[in-house]
Amino acid sequence: MSAKDEMRAMLAQLMGTEVDNTPKVKFTDRSVCRPFLLGCCPHEVLDSTRMDIGKCRQIHDYAAKADYEKANAEKDLDFETDAMYELRAFIRDIDRRIDLSKKDLIETQEELSTDVEIKANMVHDIGEHIGKKLAEAERQGADGNVEESLKLMEEVEKLKEEKKKAEMDYRNCMPASTYQQQKLRVCEICSAYLGIHDNDRRLADHFGGKLHLGFIKLREKLTALEKIAEVNAEKRRVDREERRSSRNSPDRDRGRRDRNRERRRSRSRSREKERKRNGRDRDGDSRRSSSYRSSRRDDSPDRSRSKSKSTKVSDE
Ligand SMILES: [Zn+2]
Ligand SMILES: [Zn+2]
Repeated sequence: MSAKDEMRAMLAQLMGTEVDNTPKVKFTDRSVCRPFLLGCCPHEVLDSTRMDIGKCRQIHDYAAKADYEKANAEKDLDFETDAMYELRAFIRDIDRRIDLSKKDLIETQEELSTDVEIKANMVHDIGEHIGKKLAEAERQGADGNVEESLKLMEEVEKLKEEKKKAEMDYRNCMPASTYQQQKLRVCEICSAYLGIHDNDRRLADHFGGKLHLGFIKLREKLTALEKIAEVNAEKRRVDREERRSSRNSPDRDRGRRDRNRERRRSRSRSREKERKRNGRDRDGDSRRSSSYRSSRRDDSPDRSRSKSKSTKVSDE
């Protein structure tokens, strides 16, 4: 990248497409790399490491990334879920590779007795500690944190003593020729091979190197994305349920109306039954004689007349 390109990328990153007028694809386009938008495309993170996997097939565009960040701050776009699936596929691939390498080592390396295996692992473990602390001490030193860096170097010196003892133990339990053989171990983070005879410098270069740190970043990012994706999935589930229940509520009202109608209907039916039983007419007069009741179905005007007559009679 030329200095001018770098400047443009920086500006674009800061300002979005407002400043960068080169033709761009919109960040929502599916051709734009979502892991890149979230800062975790393995192609970018592992660029120029031993495990460089070449250029990403999806579009990486800093202006689009800035636009995405702005839009996402206003409204949660949930690109995390897509990015999570892509990153997870990549990490699973690496984990498979780590498993295969481990199996391979079991098959190709001379098998050690349990006792010797424990001693070898001790050397490996202390070496790993030294590598990590040394790399951290160098990083702190480079950042100007001298005190922190010196403190870590002291710890490294102590660990070196421990390692010397562990190496001695390991060497004393086998013939010199066997001891000379490199005993390898697979790094559980980045799948690189680590040797039992690797010196501290080499170990520090590994644990402080771009490849190993890149994998730490990708793995941490995956864990974070998985959490966000889970929360977002739960939100979607709740939204769906709310939508469903609000869709159903008119039905529920209708159901209530139906039930009310049903109640009214059954009330009128029972009223009718009652009328049949009591011989009551629409006027609801219950003080009619039983002789009249028996012929109440006849609603002829005459009947009404006679009815009102009878009512009058009974009222008197
Ligand atoms: Zn990408
Ligand atoms: Zn590693």
